[in-house]
Amino acid sequence: MAAAVLVFMYVPLCAQTLKVRVLNIYHPESLEALQLNGVEKVKVRYVKGDNIEVIYNNEKKITNQYFLNSGRYGEYEIRLNGKSYIYKGKVMFFVPKDEKEAGIIVEMDPEDYVSASLDGELEGFYSSPESDKALAIAIRTYALKNLKRHGYYDLCDLTHCQRLNGRVQLKRDSNTKAAEATHGVIIADKKGNPADIYFSGCCGGETEPPGNIWGGNNDSAGVIKCGAGGVDFCKSHVFYRWEKEIKASSVKSLVKEKTGIHLKGNIDMSAEDLTPGGNVRMLLIKDKKNTVEFPLEKFISAYGKKYRWSDMPSRKFTVLKKGTSFILKGRGAGHGCGLCLAGAHMLALKGWSYEGVLNFYYPGMQLIKAPE
Ligand SMILES: [Zn+2]
Ligand SMILES: [Zn+2]
Repeated sequence: MAAAVLVFMYVPLCAQTLKVRVLNIYHPESLEALQLNGVEKVKVRYVKGDNIEVIYNNEKKITNQYFLNSGRYGEYEIRLNGKSYIYKGKVMFFVPKDEKEAGIIVEMDPEDYVSASLDGELEGFYSSPESDKALAIAIRTYALKNLKRHGYYDLCDLTHCQRLNGRVQLKRDSNTKAAEATHGVIIADKKGNPADIYFSGCCGGETEPPGNIWGGNNDSAGVIKCGAGGVDFCKSHVFYRWEKEIKASSVKSLVKEKTGIHLKGNIDMSAEDLTPGGNVRMLLIKDKKNTVEFPLEKFISAYGKKYRWSDMPSRKFTVLKKGTSFILKGRGAGHGCGLCLAGAHMLALKGWSYEGVLNFYYPGMQLIKAPE
């Protein structure tokens, strides 16, 4: 396998910090925050309007934003709902527009972000030095490509962007090593900017160009077979092949909620409009009278919020009716675009370098490194 081209040039983005909103999945109303190895310890509580109450040294203050340790860089612990989360950076509390909670933004050095996100993204997956490095570069590239994705902050800490679990104290040394070994390296498009790249847990056998799922132009190659000699590289992943059951009554209820159409009696559902990589784009749901076209992207989001996200690990599946349920037989975890984490791990175990792995999943793209 030929190594990807490693070009040294100036990448101005590497000097930037990343503003990451954390823990908003819990809608924090009150929390405790403290500076590790420092003196400051505060209690923060949402009051009303755009105000939070901050208690420091028994003194109460009502304000609309508060910087922990006067906005200085450091390590901080946030205690929320009986759990602790550790972050490295500058921590700010504020009331997000139209929300009634204490928002938390951590402004991070991109390299600390890469190291922390490796921990979040690898949770439950295999890790090895070369595949960790490949993922570190993919995480860094995605972060720098998606600055301001959320408007006044860059990234959230969920799979919507990239996961941060706030468990820096538990993180493996290997994450820091992978981030340090690839310091500043990104995957670049033809103009030398961070490329529009994605990665997922397990592609199930072939990767998908992102444009096939989300539309738009993308320079990435077509479908890539994640395997050789009849054996898929990501075969050992727990969701390489999966089977899930979805109740017909849940499907009916979502159709009613989202389209206003009341399907009656026995309903049928089929997976339609497949992409070249095997991702389903449309569900056809019908009773004797009506046929409803439900875009899968919208179905996953509605179903996940109302029932369980885990019932649809990927978008590659077939549907079978069984009694009052539908059986989904699927392959892969996540959207299956770009780097396949399980495949990358297998290739690394076979002795591939991170350059080789990235060149395989992102053919034609180059690696660029900022000067030290
Ligand atoms: Zn996000
Ligand atoms: Zn794969």
